[in-house]
Amino acid sequence: MIPGSFDYHCPSTVEEATALLADLGDEARPLAGGHSLVPMMKLRLAPLEHLVDLGRIDSLRGVTEEAGGLTIGAMTTQAELMTSDLVASACPILQEAAAVIADPQVRYCGTLGGNVANGDPGNDMPAVMQCLDARYRLAGSGGTREVAARDFYEAAYFTKLEAGEILTAVHIPALPAGHGFAYEKLKRKVGDYATAASAVVLTLEGGTCNFASIALTNLGETPLWAEAASAALVGSSVDKAAIDQAVSAAEGIMDPASDGRGPADYRTKMGGVMTRRAIARALSRATA
Ligand code: FAD
Repeated sequence: MIPGSFDYHCPSTVEEATALLADLGDEARPLAGGHSLVPMMKLRLAPLEHLVDLGRIDSLRGVTEEAGGLTIGAMTTQAELMTSDLVASACPILQEAAAVIADPQVRYCGTLGGNVANGDPGNDMPAVMQCLDARYRLAGSGGTREVAARDFYEAAYFTKLEAGEILTAVHIPALPAGHGFAYEKLKRKVGDYATAASAVVLTLEGGTCNFASIALTNLGETPLWAEAASAALVGSSVDKAAIDQAVSAAEGIMDPASDGRGPADYRTKMGGVMTRRAIARALSRATA
């Protein structure tokens, strides 16, 4: 189907964009890469009279080092994340996750900001951001604020973004040296959304896990930070008993829909399998 007609706005600063969104009200939306928004517009699920394109706002692009961590502009594309040396050295799990999003065509246009602001439980980056304890920087006509990725998602397509606000950047705190990481995603075919996926970061000291964080994609209405599963690994040697406990705790918070990707029981089981594989691969990469 062809989208309904709309007015196109092309601001060159964040202030201009937020002022436009405030003026235009409910029927205006920010446009980033358009690879979630335009398909929705074609379905004509909601009346949308104004698109505010963020693509000409230079301050929303790029990856910079900040306080040992990374700050990534909202309009940075998945393809740019995959080729950034800074991301490769400071936060390689981002490249692993970006590489399993859709296909190259989508990754050249799709942005990190659009992926995390969208609120679709099938998007891959939100769980990775929860795993990394990232913070989202938001700007509106009334000022700026930060929200933790772990607090941002309320329900499918409902987030803490308020009307007229845009996400300007994501800040990822510094990861400990020698950390192990993995993003494991089960999908039906190349380019598909996850049937189930799991992000894991952990560190070892003298063979004992002293930090672990696990988060899950498309296994509930929102991305899920698996706090109890993460805690089950800490203090252990990440042996079979600890992994079994972590997988069981992760499965305990999953509540996927039964849909074209499989019945809920199957998807929960696969969520457990993805978590087990991600822990094993993160462990193999961690330097003790
Ligand atoms: P847009 O589509 O432009 O925007 C998405 C939503 O976020 C809109 O509501 C928009 O108003 C809002 N928004 C965008 N930027 C901001 C901002 N800075 N501040 C506030 N609100 C904002 N994604 C995956 O994660 N995994 C997949 O496997 C996957 N497979 C796909 C397969 C296909 C064939 C297609 C077409 C898409 C797929 N996607 C997948 C979605 C893709 O990654 C999108 O690019 C992404 O979800 C949205 O990013 P975008 O930059 O295109 O945002």
